[in-house]
Amino acid sequence: MQPSAAPAASPAPGERWQEVLDNIPALEVLIETMSITAKFGGTSLADANQIRKVADIIKSDPRRRHIVLSAPGKRTSSDKKITDLLYLCHSLANQGLDIQTAFGPIKQRFLGIAEELGVDEMAGWLAEVELRIADGADVDWIASRGEYLNSRMVARFLGATFIDAASAIRMAADGRLRAAETYQLLAEALTGDGLFVVPGFYGADPSGHIRCFSRGGSDITGAIVARAAGDQVYENWTDVPGLLMADPRIVDNPRPIAEVTYREQRELSYMGATVLHDEAVFPVREAGIPINIRNTNDPSAPGTRIVTTRDSSRHAVAGIAGRVGFSNVYTDKALMNAELGYGRRMLEILEKRGITFEHAPTSIDTMSVIVRDEEIAGKEDLVLGDIENQLKPDRVEIDSDIALIATVGEGMSKKVGIAARLFGALGKSGVNILMINQGASEINIIVGVAASDYEKAVRAIYGEFVKPA
Ligand code: ADP
Ligand code: ASP
Ligand code: MG
Repeated sequence: MQPSAAPAASPAPGERWQEVLDNIPALEVLIETMSITAKFGGTSLADANQIRKVADIIKSDPRRRHIVLSAPGKRTSSDKKITDLLYLCHSLANQGLDIQTAFGPIKQRFLGIAEELGVDEMAGWLAEVELRIADGADVDWIASRGEYLNSRMVARFLGATFIDAASAIRMAADGRLRAAETYQLLAEALTGDGLFVVPGFYGADPSGHIRCFSRGGSDITGAIVARAAGDQVYENWTDVPGLLMADPRIVDNPRPIAEVTYREQRELSYMGATVLHDEAVFPVREAGIPINIRNTNDPSAPGTRIVTTRDSSRHAVAGIAGRVGFSNVYTDKALMNAELGYGRRMLEILEKRGITFEHAPTSIDTMSVIVRDEEIAGKEDLVLGDIENQLKPDRVEIDSDIALIATVGEGMSKKVGIAARLFGALGKSGVNILMINQGASEINIIVGVAASDYEKAVRAIYGEFVKPA
């Protein structure tokens, strides 16, 4: 049977099919140009076996073309990270001591992996590094060699193009990223087909000196690469099933979080959920590129997606994170509220001593300023003296051994009853609350407790908000 004639204005069925076929190459090009940045952490690259798993993950999706690698991490809990050994090399060289106690294990580790992967240039690369360390190379150059050597080796193993981060990631002399310049250089370097490997953790300043990010900084490199390449997603492959609702070293089998917002993730990371560096969200958040935390040892699991917004109606609390190592600079003065400039002068005293602060909760006649121990260490007497002289408080003291715990969730502080449940859970488990801060950020409630109560407090809060399934 002949198809009935189509009205003159619309194409005949045959022509319509032609139109679809004509569009297929465009579709193919689109799929081909979609790409993913995949960053693999230290434990995912700790030995040849792990590196083979990484290679399988990369090959299982052709969109995974932009690969960012850390240095080999720990194989067991008592093992040493290559980066830690490199810092040790620097300190030995600096004291004029033999570097072999640290460089020996680095050499052995890299040579062993390279041999298993069939990469024979490793001995030559290591010899160059050893020579420069002996020649007095600076600390950032030395620390960056774990990522450099690993990435060169894995690039060779994968048959990928190696891009040295020193040539494409630009940092200012103070270690901050020169973002616009970096995105342009990286975008140029990542042009073309095939697979690219970029070492994490470092870049170079305008005079070519290597600069490292802070520890765990390969996560930042991954975000920068995803942003520069305009990728669909930034995958961060690690050794846990994603961002977990609490630190797995404190809570047994904490529940994985399916979805969190960039804001929630940053709060959790800053407060101690070290699975992703807290500065890694910035480059991707600006461009709306989602982050997907995945488990190298369980690649079929979906992991955690970090996105702009989430439906918080089911899970008001996204997660709990914290850390020990804070001090409280506490002052008490009658009529403090009426004294103009008290708070400013207090913060100025700390500023002049070069101390940054975390929180500054106040009441009518009291002010607490929470600082990190390492910020105030050795300066306690100077700060106490300044406060006595300039603020003339009724009482001033510095209490150390404080832990801060953040309970984080979008819109949480607006939800009736959340704070009551949190404080109730701590009370029931016998934890004394030293400080509460539920102010500026709507998405978290921070409590200060004695460091000795830290783990008990995290378990109590987790138990309150995560009921057994
Ligand atoms: P990588 O080497 O892959 O960068 P990291 O060691 O930096 O991995 O981060 C993963 C580790 O973070 C986990 O093994 C876990 O012990 C720790 N961690 C702490 N808090 C959390 C959390 N809330 N969720 C997941 N992991 C966490
Ligand atoms: N290797 C570096 C470190 O141990 C960076 C990283 O792994 O992200 O901190
Ligand atoms: Mg890490």
